[in-house]
Parts: sequence; C-alpha cells; structure tokens
Amino acid sequence: MPTPTLGTTHLLDRASPKRTDAAWITAQRASEASRFMILVDLKPVIAAGPDRTSSEIRWLSLGEVEALAISTEESLFLGLDTEGRAHFALPITDHLARATPGAVQYFRPAVDLRTLAMQGVLTPEDQSLAGQARALGQWHENARCCGRCGSATRIKDGGWRRTCWACGTQWFPRTDPVVIMLVTDGDRCILAHEHRYVANMYSTLAGFVEHGEDIEHAVRREVGEETGIRVGKVEYHASQPWPFPHSLMIGCIAHAETTDLVVDAAELADARWFSREEVRAMLEGRHPDGLTAPGRHAIANILLRHFVGES
Ligand SMILES: [Zn+2]
Repeated sequence: MPTPTLGTTHLLDRASPKRTDAAWITAQRASEASRFMILVDLKPVIAAGPDRTSSEIRWLSLGEVEALAISTEESLFLGLDTEGRAHFALPITDHLARATPGAVQYFRPAVDLRTLAMQGVLTPEDQSLAGQARALGQWHENARCCGRCGSATRIKDGGWRRTCWACGTQWFPRTDPVVIMLVTDGDRCILAHEHRYVANMYSTLAGFVEHGEDIEHAVRREVGEETGIRVGKVEYHASQPWPFPHSLMIGCIAHAETTDLVVDAAELADARWFSREEVRAMLEGRHPDGLTAPGRHAIANILLRHFVGES
C-alpha cells in the first residue's frame, strides 16, 4: 500500500529500553559519534544534497555543536542508526540562533517543514525524521510547566518524559488522534474546500476524535456535522503521523447512506460530490475548472488514489 511521503520513520531504532537510562543518554549526548539535527523555531536546518537538486537534513557533530557553544543537555533522542550512532534533535529559538556567533553558516536555511513536505525536496525518510523531531520539539515547548501544579518540569528519558520537580507528576509526549475520511456513495466521493485552503483545493473531511469516542463514531459525527450526510459502515484504511503540531491522522473510508449535502458554512467554504473521473483529473492537475487535491505528503492523497483505483 502506498504511504504519504511525510510518514513513519524506519531509519532509526528508538531504543526505548535504553533511553530511560539517564547515564546512557548522558553518554550519548557527549559522544563524538552522535549527530544533532538543529531546529530553529521548530524549522529543521537543511543543506543541499550531493546532487545539488535536492536537500537533506544537515546533521551536526558534537564538535560542531560545541564550537557554537550550544548546550546538548536538553537535546531530544530520536534513535540509533544501524551503526549504533545516536541521533538527536536540538531545538533552539531563532533568538538564540541570531545571538550565536558563527551560527549563520550552520543555521541557514531553516525551512518550515510543511513547506518542505509540499515541495518534496527532502527524501521521505528525512521528512519523516524531521517530522518526529518537530512534533517532539513542539510538545516540549508546551510542556515546560506542570499542568497540575504549575511548577517547572524537567526533561527525562532523552526527551520522552518530563517530570514536575514540585509534585512529581510525570508528563509524556502527547499525540492527538484525528479522523480523516473519504466519504463515498460508491461512485462518487465528498470533498470540501476549507476557508484556510489555497484557492481551488479540495480535500477529504477531517476532525479531532473527542473523549469517549471511538474512530467510527468520530467519523460519523464529523461527517454529519459538516455535511449533513449519514454514514453507515466505516473502514480503516491507513494512518499517518502529522507533526502540525503532533497529530495522528487515521484515514478511513466512510460509506454514505444519504446523498443530500447540508454544508456547515462555519467549518467549510464548500463541499460537494465528485466523480472518479473528476478526482483523477484533480490528482493529475488537469481538472477543467483548475481544482486541485492535496499532494503526496498528505494521507488525503492516499485516500483519493485508493478511490480512483490506484491502490
Ligand atoms: Zn506539578
């Protein structure tokens, strides 16, 4: 089955049993063999690839990081490569990057990951690793204070846990489940244009799973709220980590039992039924009205390719 180019990374072993060992993590952070991915305001620092037509993550050695006088103390452990080298994400602020002498040559360009994914200039593996780093880095930005007592939290397990120094509550990186569904009546599917989309782009419906809901209920509720369509059978199709900020997209096929659309104008600018031929034209960039669909970085693209029979 095809997967989005912004997906799961298989390059590194996350080494969960090892990263809970504080001495081991400290040793990895101080190892000459380790590699560090700098994120400036959560934007990965990249470099031109060997062929000069693509880009890749710019991994810094410990020596390079130390030469810039940037601390690795709160670097986030991503995993071990096949040679046992530890890879870390090292999020810093743009303010620090600007204030660090000699950093400009290392930290330009730092490019927004969504832009990189849409342009497809990184390999899928690099995009996915940068996605893992961005999602984890974003969570740490928002988890510096304890949600229970308000005191400061401290980083543990190489970045996979934080502990409150005052009340001891443990906090773990969170992932937000989102259902994203292709609604079909057999021959047609529903696609929507949201107010925030670029002009002419239509995509599948999506929404957050709420507490007390299963995937099927979330699909039926969201489709009902946004389009007035009643959904019967719901089938899981595929999933995708989506690091904006840290979601898990759960891709489903939703079988419509009704066909009359009642569009929720607050949520959607437009929603309508599309034939397979129309969807195929959108995916191939030749729709007569210039309508487009999301690119291969997004799971919506995988759902649409499945609908037109490409997978
Ligand atoms: Zn606390």
